[in-house]
Amino acid sequence: MRTPGANRQGLTGGGPWENREVTPLFPELQAAFDRERKDARAARPADAMSARASTVRMYGRLAELQSGVIARKGIEVACARGCSYCCHLRVEIRPHEAFVLARHVQEKFDAARRERALARIAGNLERIAPLAPEQHVRAGIPCALLEDGACSVYEARPAACRKYYSVSVSTCRDAFGDTSAPLTGELEDEDLRLAGNAVALGYAKGLEDAGYDIELRELHYALRKALTEPKAEARYRRGKRPFV
Ligand code: SF4
Repeated sequence: MRTPGANRQGLTGGGPWENREVTPLFPELQAAFDRERKDARAARPADAMSARASTVRMYGRLAELQSGVIARKGIEVACARGCSYCCHLRVEIRPHEAFVLARHVQEKFDAARRERALARIAGNLERIAPLAPEQHVRAGIPCALLEDGACSVYEARPAACRKYYSVSVSTCRDAFGDTSAPLTGELEDEDLRLAGNAVALGYAKGLEDAGYDIELRELHYALRKALTEPKAEARYRRGKRPFV
C-alpha cells in the first residue's frame, strides 16, 4: 500500500516503475507495458475515429489487467458509486484521452448540457489559473465533469481516473476534509497502481514512438481545447502538438 500521492496522473513524478523491487508481479506488468508499447507503435490507425476507438480498447485492457490483480491479491477496493473525493484532485490527461473525452461530450450531451459543462470547465480554469500544479492537487476543486456527485463521462473517463483504486475511504475522506493536513494512511495497492500504469503508459509510449504527442495536460485545459478547437485533432494526427 502507499500513502496518498500527488495527484491522479500517476505516470510521472518518480516514474512509472518506482518501487519495482517490492512488486512480485512486476515481470508480468513489465510484459504488459512492453506489449502495449509495441502494439501502439505498430498500429497506425487510419483516421481519428479509429485512433479514438483504439484508445477505448486500451481502457478495456487496463480494466482487465487491474481486475486480475484485484482478484488474485484479494484487494478490498474502497471505491463505490457516489464517492467522489478523488474527483476533487488535479487530473492530468494526454491528447489521445482528451479526444475520446471531447467526442463523448459532443455525442452524448445535448446542447444545453454541453454548454453547462463548458461553463463549469471555464469556471474551473479560472480557479486553477493562479495555482501551481502542486497547489491545485489538493485545492478541493470539483472536476467540471461531476454531475450530482457522479462522473458524467464515465465510459470515456481518462486513464488517470480509471486506474485509481483506493483501499481506504477514510484516507480519502481525511485528505478531502482537511486539504492543508499532511497526507497520511494507506491509499493504493502498489501492484494495482503499477498494473494501471503498465497499460496506460505502455500505450502512450507506443504512440510517442509512432510520432504522436503524449504530453500530460491538466484535464480542464486539454478538454476545452479539444472541444473548442476543431483543428486540434487534425494537428495531433499530423504529429504536431494539438493544444497550442
Ligand atoms: S473525469 Fe469523471 S472520474 Fe475523472 S475526475 Fe472528472 S468526474 Fe471524476
